[in-house]
Amino acid sequence: MRKRIVAGNWKMNLSKQEAEQLITDLESQYENEKDCHIIICPASLYLNMAVEMQSNMSVGAQNVSERENGAFTGEISCAMLNSMNVQYCIVGHSERRQFFGDTDELINQKVKALLANNITPILCCGESLGQREANEQEKVVSIQLGSALKGLSADEVAKVVVAYEPVWAIGTGVTASAQQAQDMHAYIRGFLQDIVGDKSKEISILYGGSCKPANAKELFACADIDGGLIGGAALDATSFLAIANSF
Ligand code: PEP
Repeated sequence: MRKRIVAGNWKMNLSKQEAEQLITDLESQYENEKDCHIIICPASLYLNMAVEMQSNMSVGAQNVSERENGAFTGEISCAMLNSMNVQYCIVGHSERRQFFGDTDELINQKVKALLANNITPILCCGESLGQREANEQEKVVSIQLGSALKGLSADEVAKVVVAYEPVWAIGTGVTASAQQAQDMHAYIRGFLQDIVGDKSKEISILYGGSCKPANAKELFACADIDGGLIGGAALDATSFLAIANSF
């Protein structure tokens, strides 16, 4: 049975005090009876604090270097994350693709480096508005996933968490309809089935893009949607936990 997951991507938000308060609120309001695994992904500066403060959640990074170690000023390695008990890392987010030049090839290197360090990649894929309008969403996602997973064994692919995030839905308030999301998740499951066979059934596929308490139930009721990667709504403990309780 694959894991239900709700992961919060805090992006470049919150002071240390605000992050501390959010973790305190999450810890005190946590009543997750829905067998849903919760992951918080604060800015890297706060990862250590998050690992030390949490008792019910896992902690994920928002980015990592593909390189092992050495003279790479400002970068953070997978081994560093692993040494701090960070268990997950977002890779291939559209904002990193758009603003920081993360290419499919680089994303593939990051996925490999994470798996080699026992950190689970949360691998994002998704089409832009123009690509959706041109009905290219399946092609775009298959190229992104095919490149990111290149050279991995079936067992390694089965360890990855996939997040389908249509770029036109991220931070816009426009959510994919449950049908649009389910269609893409089923397509992604089929794509994974073609490369890893039945191990594809173990892979959690999350939806991301303006997911909130008001639409999470309908989305999470879909057969191939195993949870969400949440941006804006993850900055409020009540909203985030309401989403996690939407299964
Ligand atoms: C995201 O950036 O991963 C995301 C899903 O953001 P939001 O929920 O704010 O659309």
